[in-house]
Amino acid sequence: MIKCLTLKLHFRGMEGDLRLALEEKCRTLDIPMMGVADADAWDEPPFRPFVSDDSHPKAIMPSARSVVVIGIPLPMPAIDSAPSIWYAETYRTVNQLLDQSTYRLSLFLESKGHAAAFVPRDGYAGLEALRKDPSSFFSHRHAALLAGLGTFGVNNTVLTREYGPRVRFASLFTDALIDHDEPIEEELCIECGLCQKKCPVNAIGGGTYPDDIIDKSACTERTAILNDKGISPCGMCVRVCPVGEDRKRWGNKKVSIYTEKGDWTDRWDKIRSHGMR
Ligand code: SF4
Ligand code: SF4
Repeated sequence: MIKCLTLKLHFRGMEGDLRLALEEKCRTLDIPMMGVADADAWDEPPFRPFVSDDSHPKAIMPSARSVVVIGIPLPMPAIDSAPSIWYAETYRTVNQLLDQSTYRLSLFLESKGHAAAFVPRDGYAGLEALRKDPSSFFSHRHAALLAGLGTFGVNNTVLTREYGPRVRFASLFTDALIDHDEPIEEELCIECGLCQKKCPVNAIGGGTYPDDIIDKSACTERTAILNDKGISPCGMCVRVCPVGEDRKRWGNKKVSIYTEKGDWTDRWDKIRSHGMR
C-alpha cells in the first residue's frame, strides 16, 4: 500500500522535502493514499463546469497554495454486504478516521510553521440539508481528481487504480508550497454500465461525468429510506464496480457474483437482515 505514496513526482528543494515529510507522516498514520493539488488548479480545471467559484480553495482560504488529499479504502466484505449495518458502521468509521487524519496532518504542517486547515469530510447537517442542497461546500472528489488520485466514473464517484471507487477522500488547505501532482490522463472507468444497471432507483444515467450527472435527489431519497432503518448509505454503485486492484486481493475479481445467485449472495443475505431498525 505504501506503493501509491512512493510513486509520486520528482522532488525538489523545500517543496519536495515537505512532500516527503508529509508522506512519511501518512505512513505513520496508516493512510495508504495521498496526493497534493496546486490550489491554482481550480482556476484552470480539466473540464467545465467544475465546481462553483465560491467552492475554490482560495475562495475559502485566500492564502491557500496547496490542497492535500488523502484516501482511506472501504474493506470489500463490508461493502459487499451493503446496504447493511456492517457497511453503515464502516462508512462512519472511515469518515471519522479521515477527519481525524486531515486534522492531524494540518497540525503537523502548523508545527512546521505553515497555516493549515482541515476540511470536514461531510459538511452538512443531516438529510434535510441534503434535500435542500445535495452538494458540499468543498468537493473532496474534485480535489482527489486534481491531486492525481483517480478519475470520475459513470457513477460520479472518483475511481482509483488501487480501490476503484471503494475509497473515501478528505482534504486540507495549507499556505505551504508542496510538490504537487497532476491529474491522471487515463480514464479509469471502463463504462461497463454495471453501476447503472444495479442502482435501485435508476439515479444513474449511464453517460460520462460531467456531461451526465446522477439524479442526486433520487439517491438522497434512497438514503433517507435506508437511514430510517439505520443502514445508510446505499453503496450499490460503488461495490459492483469492476475497477480496482482491491478485487484481486479479496478474491472477487468476477463481477458476475453480483448478478448470479450463489454462496456469496447467501452470505450477504444474512448480514443484510441483521441489526436494522
Ligand atoms: S461500474 Fe462500470 S460504468 Fe460504473 S463506474 Fe465502474 S467501470 Fe464505470
Ligand atoms: S448510492 Fe445507490 S441510489 Fe445512489 S446512485 Fe449509487 S446505487 Fe443509486
